Amino acid sequence: MTESTYRIQGATGEWEVVIGLEVHAQVTSNAKLFSGAATAFGAEPNTQVSLVDAAMPGMLPVPNRECIRQAVRTGMAIDAQINRWSRFDRKNYFYADLPQGYQISQLYHPLVGEGHLDVSPDDKNPDQVKRIGIERIHVEQDAGKLMHDQHPTKSYVDLNRSGVALMEIVSRPDMRSPAEAGAYLTKLRSILRYVGSCDGNMDQGSMRADVNVSVRKPGEPFGTRTETKNVNSVRFVMQAIEHEAKRQVAVLEDGGAIVQETRLFNPDTGQTRSMRSKEDAQDYRYFPDPDLLPLELDEAFLEECRASLPELPDAKRARYEAAGISPYQAGVLTAEVEAARWFDALLDAGAAPVAAANWTTSELFGALNRTGRDIADSPVSPTQAAELLALVADGTLSGSLAKQVFEVMLETGDAPAKIVEDRGLKQTSDTGAIEAVIAEVLAKNPNQLEQYRGGKEALFGFFVGQTMKAMGGKANPAVVNDVLKKALAG
Ligand code: ADP
Ligand code: MG
Repeated sequence: MTESTYRIQGATGEWEVVIGLEVHAQVTSNAKLFSGAATAFGAEPNTQVSLVDAAMPGMLPVPNRECIRQAVRTGMAIDAQINRWSRFDRKNYFYADLPQGYQISQLYHPLVGEGHLDVSPDDKNPDQVKRIGIERIHVEQDAGKLMHDQHPTKSYVDLNRSGVALMEIVSRPDMRSPAEAGAYLTKLRSILRYVGSCDGNMDQGSMRADVNVSVRKPGEPFGTRTETKNVNSVRFVMQAIEHEAKRQVAVLEDGGAIVQETRLFNPDTGQTRSMRSKEDAQDYRYFPDPDLLPLELDEAFLEECRASLPELPDAKRARYEAAGISPYQAGVLTAEVEAARWFDALLDAGAAPVAAANWTTSELFGALNRTGRDIADSPVSPTQAAELLALVADGTLSGSLAKQVFEVMLETGDAPAKIVEDRGLKQTSDTGAIEAVIAEVLAKNPNQLEQYRGGKEALFGFFVGQTMKAMGGKANPAVVNDVLKKALAG
């Protein structure tokens, strides 16, 4: 880790930053945590609100099995302890977006206990891994949303989000740099999306992080932390840490003290500012929710959760590496679940792993990037790509012809074999034809031939180029090399 150790240089020496993240992830489920109301994003305000969500007197919450199942599956995906007995508590406070006057959460007995996540903060060294501890995952209700800027004298409340299930995923204070925190959040998001328990759409608010930061001189006990609320992108989390750590160092070196407080991040300036100090913090008077029985999970439920988990990114990466794919490419191919599924389908269609990985990470990803498309709406299917790679493998297409065929596939959606046929793009390995063309090329370029034979061997590439050009790029490069070597030797 020495190379990537992150330190802040102050007047009194080097400072280390300590980071813990509390991530709120919206559970993917059709209905809310304790009601049957829908959870779809983007609905008209207050169209997805049941009497339970509006906290009408006498309404009773009923836990949604699917939300519990998703949180348990998430816990299993981070190797966490699943608590067969857990309980919901009321966290009491008043706010206009919270009609109940309390949030149902889990303080004392969370559904998921200790787990961990292995992250590689350095893209260039994907094998350099750090384990980040996760303290717990508990399940809780989201609040509604207030809108203050629609009308000069009025505020509106939209309760669509009220009662939607959230997982709060609390890390240990194990991260030591913005890069580690970024890698942790990226990996966590990736796993949630593999599991299908959260869509990970940070710009829609379905995943957001409270960022706890403190600084200390290396080797000293932890310093006092601040908590920056609701940061909604990986880049912003990294910026908030950087800014907050530097601010704390400046305060401490100036003889001041850090107060434990809640801060807000401003994406426009990259700075954090104080929102409220811990002294103003309310006593939430947590107590067990009398409307809900404790959750008790049986073995069959846990078994079903476990059996429903897909192959996760680490396992997939290891499988790709075992097939000869480079650690870097394996990392790229497994980072996003859609890309990994696409690539698996390509392998299932019979493509050789290493060639498939090279082609996917360069040609396919390049084309998708150029055209601003997601892999989910790739114009070329895994089966078609496997056919293209098969034509390269059996010598029908050279690398450069394959590129041409791929371009046409992107435009027309036609099968590669049909494109090769229609456009006559087949590579020729016909030694006789190649010999004839090479003889012509040598005859046309006597000066270069003389120089080559006089020792200027760099001209070999020139002859290859001329031959390829004369053959419209369709000659088998290996055969051209062979024949050319013999012809030049004279
Ligand atoms: P609270 O219940 O007040 O939110 P927790 O002890 O549960 O406090 O910690 C909340 C988050 O703060 C966790 O993610 C934890 O890792 C992190 N954290 C705790 N102490 C520190 C510290 N000294 N510096 C940075 N992060 C910290
Ligand atoms: Mg907290």
